[in-house]
Amino acid sequence: MDFGLTQEQRLVVDTVRSFVENELYPLEAQVERDHGLASEVAREIRRKVLALGFYAANIPEEFGGGGLDHLTFTLLERELGRTAMALSTHFGRPSNILCACNEAQRERYLYPAVRGEKLDCLAMTEPDAGSDIRAMKTFARRDGDDWVINGTKHFISHADIADFVIVFVATGTEDTPKGPKQRITCFLIDRDTRGFEVRKGYGCVSHRGYHNCILSFDDCRVPDAQVLGGEGEGFALMNTWLSSTRLTVAAMCVGRARRAFDLALEWCASRRQFGQPIGRFQGTSFKLADMITEIDAADYLTLAAAWRLDQGLDANRAVAQAKLYASETLARVADHAVQIYGGMGLMEELPIARLWRDARVERIWDGTSEIQRHIISRDLLRPRGA
Ligand SMILES: Cc1cc2nc3c(=O)[nH]c(=O)nc-3n(C[C@H](O)[C@H](O)[C@H](O)COP(=O)(O)OP(=O)(O)OC[C@H]3O[C@@H](n4cnc5c(N)ncnc54)[C@H](O)[C@@H]3O)c2cc1C
Repeated sequence: MDFGLTQEQRLVVDTVRSFVENELYPLEAQVERDHGLASEVAREIRRKVLALGFYAANIPEEFGGGGLDHLTFTLLERELGRTAMALSTHFGRPSNILCACNEAQRERYLYPAVRGEKLDCLAMTEPDAGSDIRAMKTFARRDGDDWVINGTKHFISHADIADFVIVFVATGTEDTPKGPKQRITCFLIDRDTRGFEVRKGYGCVSHRGYHNCILSFDDCRVPDAQVLGGEGEGFALMNTWLSSTRLTVAAMCVGRARRAFDLALEWCASRRQFGQPIGRFQGTSFKLADMITEIDAADYLTLAAAWRLDQGLDANRAVAQAKLYASETLARVADHAVQIYGGMGLMEELPIARLWRDARVERIWDGTSEIQRHIISRDLLRPRGA
């Protein structure tokens, strides 16, 4: 492994960091206050990212994207993690699952998503099927050349502003080593499709301004042409997508943790009590030492997982370790940062309170910490027949 950054990678890091600091930091307070972003502000962010040449950096060049490898893309996500999700969403990273589109679907979904004309969202989770995703109840039945979908998804991020949804639904059952499970198929559904409705979701403690939604499918009829990747291929597609999105979560947690750390470090040096900077008290300085050590460890785990993906090596455990450790590190770092700031750490006027609130969801979405531990431990025990 060699993490000495190439010139191109340095350019990516410097460009994205300066964009985040100059263009996105100034909008953070407004997003928090308004619990959202005006559509013209969102459009303007997308326009600037397109002009910068960074839109859809994760999508292969053959489809018009930036074609970044996993390591370079992880570096980009690490920088985006420093700011609010409501803002970074418009930096434009279409789901890489769209690479499974056939030619007609590319014209209708992938290319417009790469050009910043259409925004996708992705729906797996249901009220009764979270971690146990194969227990999903949303069902599509065949009717001639069409499929008719019924059911409900919830917690679906930014569906309120998406033009189409990549949705996973059951289309039957199949035998697996663990008994019969839902056979899953992935569909591309346009927002204005009859029988499909996007409703307001729940108010969330984390990431204000980045809304989760409830999706209802009520006899929603779509042609066979809307199936992505073939009938019954949904579970395999989902797993491909999950490893890269979990790596993204890990990278963003590292970026967010570094931002909280940088702020806490400054505060330790400048805030004075008992006639000296509070950083002179071992109770705070040792916190700084623990914070930076854990952040660096999370960073290395994340980069190592990206490196494995780039080498074509099995990265399932490495990605789970990175997601687990980075999200848990962020939680500890954000909590220490609040403690170091004292009362001001909890005031909405400073970014620390937001970083602390935002940290909480990272141990839950894209697979909870327990599910990551399950993946890691199964990877260790399965070869031993246990
Ligand atoms: C703000 C937000 C946005 C989201 N965005 C999206 C989105 O865009 N698209 C989407 O599809 N989903 C999205 N999700 C859903 C997210 O991925 C799920 O919340 C997550 O997978 C956990 O499912 P659950 O909430 O139903 O919890 P549950 O699965 O009910 O888990 C509850 C608890 O039980 C534990 N548990 C469950 N199974 C096991 C097990 N086998 N071993 C050990 N412990 C276990 C869990 O770790 C957890 O602690 C979002 C969630 C949130 C909160």
